Amino acid sequence: MDFELRQKGALKFLVIPSFEKTGLVKHGFSTRLGGVSRGAFESLNLGLKKTDEKEMVLENYRRFCDAIGVDMNDLVASDQVHGDDIYEAFLQDRGKGINRESDIISKDALMTGQKGVALVTFYADCVPLFFLDVRTPAIALAHAGWRGTVKKIGQKTVIQMMKKYGSKPEDILVGIGPCIKSCCYEVDNPVVEEFKKAFSCLKELIEERGADHWMLDLVKANKKQLEEIGIKPENITVSHYCTCCSSDMFFSYRADHGKTGSLAAVIELV
Ligand SMILES: [Zn+2]
Repeated sequence: MDFELRQKGALKFLVIPSFEKTGLVKHGFSTRLGGVSRGAFESLNLGLKKTDEKEMVLENYRRFCDAIGVDMNDLVASDQVHGDDIYEAFLQDRGKGINRESDIISKDALMTGQKGVALVTFYADCVPLFFLDVRTPAIALAHAGWRGTVKKIGQKTVIQMMKKYGSKPEDILVGIGPCIKSCCYEVDNPVVEEFKKAFSCLKELIEERGADHWMLDLVKANKKQLEEIGIKPENITVSHYCTCCSSDMFFSYRADHGKTGSLAAVIELV
């Protein structure tokens, strides 16, 4: 199963068909196409912490939210530090990190069981994880770069959903969005050492590319840890896009040499 590409005017975005079919959520993953930002942020930059002009970014939010049918005032933004802390968002958090100050600090994952709370997380190569417990229902988003993947933020998010909402892994649908894939994600020995400690199946995740150089498969590492905790493989949808290979369509930290905008994942219970 793959994400599906949609278009509204010049704005292109992705949706997860299995999520859409439930009728429980509004959601989407942005591309860099269809916004108003310029230069390195061209054009749909959704990162308010970048040096991009605030008015431009807010206009990009208006357009993206309009395309996916989400009220921009319902957004609650994460504050990402490549950690593994998870924040439970409520209605009173709406607007935080978007159109008002936020006290949500150092949280790489957001979850909620309330309708009308639109979670937002940010990406430019890191792995976007979408979660939907169709029974409770409850939702979550997690930002998993290599550090978050090693810390198993995906698995920890599921555990928190189990604790807070009584979610069962077999009821949870997962979407793994566009990110840097093993075709482009070269890492050195210190990173491989961290993965060795965290994953017994290390050999399945890396491929050697010369001395001290390895190609790392972050998608597989996230899938493995989610399946380990009981998520059904058939309930995991993976986007085929590599953000680095398709940097004309996605912001890519590596392809754009660090000067780039932010893509966003958004999901809301309806
Ligand atoms: Zn690639």
